[in-house]
Amino acid sequence: MLFEDLNLIEPIKKAIKTKGFVKPTPIQSRAIPSLLKGMDLLGCAQTGTGKTAAFAIPILQGITLQHKANASRRQIQALIIAPTRELAIQIADSFEDYGKNLTLKTLVIYGGVSQNPQTKDLTKGIDILVATPGRLLDLINQRYVSLKNVKYFVLDEADHMLDMGMLQDVKKIIAHLPKEKQTMFFSATMPAEIEKLANSILKNPIKIMVTPASSTVEIIEQELYYVDNGNKVNLLIDLLKNKDIISALVFSRTKHGANRIVKNLGKAGLVAEAIHGNKSQTARQLALNNFKERKTRILVATDIAARGIDIEELSHVINFDLPEVPETYVHRIGRTGRASHGGTAISFCSQAEKPLLKSIQKLTTKFIVEIDDHPYPLIETSIEVIVKSDRRKPSMKAVTQGKPRNSRRNNDIKKKVVKTEKMRNN
Ligand code: ADP
Ligand code: MG
Repeated sequence: MLFEDLNLIEPIKKAIKTKGFVKPTPIQSRAIPSLLKGMDLLGCAQTGTGKTAAFAIPILQGITLQHKANASRRQIQALIIAPTRELAIQIADSFEDYGKNLTLKTLVIYGGVSQNPQTKDLTKGIDILVATPGRLLDLINQRYVSLKNVKYFVLDEADHMLDMGMLQDVKKIIAHLPKEKQTMFFSATMPAEIEKLANSILKNPIKIMVTPASSTVEIIEQELYYVDNGNKVNLLIDLLKNKDIISALVFSRTKHGANRIVKNLGKAGLVAEAIHGNKSQTARQLALNNFKERKTRILVATDIAARGIDIEELSHVINFDLPEVPETYVHRIGRTGRASHGGTAISFCSQAEKPLLKSIQKLTTKFIVEIDDHPYPLIETSIEVIVKSDRRKPSMKAVTQGKPRNSRRNNDIKKKVVKTEKMRNN
């Protein structure tokens, strides 16, 4: 199927062409016809599957054909809520891209910045509002936003809103919406609470499931490095210096961890920036833009900060820490290999993370290739081997510090172990 076959109006077809898209993605080709008919939608799909266009195109067409924007007194006709500011910005950008030949007005609002410019724009009148839940609710309560004319409502990445503790706010926002409207609900996973919310707001929805584990993820090379926690930074530096890595998004489990990685890379002469919840919105946006524009090669992020962020032609995703939730692995690596570009996902796995790796491997159908030829192999496993052959108890001291160059280091450790045992025997 081609975009040509989707009964789209000329200005939208033209905008899609300008973007260089010819074939709709599976979720687009299935969602767009039903959405154009006015049906509700439940979309179960990961990032990178093309959800944004799947809802933005029918909304733009719907407003243009049926509700003819009243240019002198615009009212919010479509509301899209998304969990993070970055994601909201990206969605608004897509509305502007696909709607560039139309006359509709889109506004994006989010927290962490002054509300004055946002309220000013709101009072000028807009057709499409993209927002994060907290700021939206604030502005509704201050009566800067009225949702009573909303005809299209989109909830994007609902499961992430649940993770981020936003569900109460979302429910309050929903209570302000008119009963008659078309609702589009997207979530990568369907935890019970999300399913309940979906059931309560959707009316006979068409249900679309897209499994990325076989679509998006299939074109991504997945590599695995076993490495001790204490050596992860060294390995990262080694890879960034020696491998052909054009741009890398590095995932850290914690904000502090992300800062530490950036600092250590800096010491090794590698410029990197971090994005996470402790940084101001301006700092996050700046770091993200620098990365997108290739001014910085390395971006270190926590999962929440990086959610849904779309970076074109990102060559590498590096899991410095493995995620606790296996689905997060799929989200993370989906950042590379967007749409049709390939990409590489590199994962570091320490001894303690092996159980996490096991559940990840159960989830992804594609094989993750272990790279064992690297300067920082697991020392803990080496010790086990030594212990087996020596039939002695090792000193834990030997486990703690590791230096590069595998074979020599293993010998060093072996010597150390033996030496300690001797001393003990004396
Ligand atoms: P999701 O919301 O599912 O994460 P996006 O809507 O952000 O996905 O799209 C992912 C990427 O794929 C974006 O870079 C987008 O421009 C691109 N894309 C979307 N639809 C198509 C298409 N039909 N053909 C080619 N690329 C597309
Ligand atoms: Mg998206």
